[in-house]
Amino acid sequence: MTVVGRCAVCFSTILSSSVIALTKCGHTFHNDCVRPWISTGKACPTCRTKTNSHDILKLYFDAPGADDSFFLATQEDNSTKIAHLHAKIDELEKEKEAEVLKNKELETKVKSQSKKITNLEKNGQRAERLAVIISQLEGNLQNQNALKKKLEETEHKLKASEL
Ligand SMILES: [Zn+2]
Ligand SMILES: [Zn+2]
Repeated sequence: MTVVGRCAVCFSTILSSSVIALTKCGHTFHNDCVRPWISTGKACPTCRTKTNSHDILKLYFDAPGADDSFFLATQEDNSTKIAHLHAKIDELEKEKEAEVLKNKELETKVKSQSKKITNLEKNGQRAERLAVIISQLEGNLQNQNALKKKLEETEHKLKASEL
């Protein structure tokens, strides 16, 4: 049974299975509630429009009555759909969590890589400094060789003059 409205005479719900009365002003009530009201008051309980008993129509909803199988079926349909959607949401959330974990892993990887890079850069600077020292040493060595040659030459000259 489906609730389709509320009766302004008795203030309780109007169900699709109720005998519903429709006034010419468009308001709905329980048929049993509004008929005695109109016969004495001659006006709509809701909006006070002048109304006679012959202005009241009976309203029937073309909806299943006793077993409401159609509504139950669509409700079941909807609840399975909702369950499916919930499952999908769960899946997506799990995927998202996995992505977050992956991102964290990547972040730590990037951090360790950038540390390695700075270490390599430091090593590179050290290598450059070493290269400078080596070239300086090589220069010293060349100077020493030159000095050695000069020394040998002078020794030769000395020996020659002694002879
Ligand atoms: Zn009523
Ligand atoms: Zn009315």
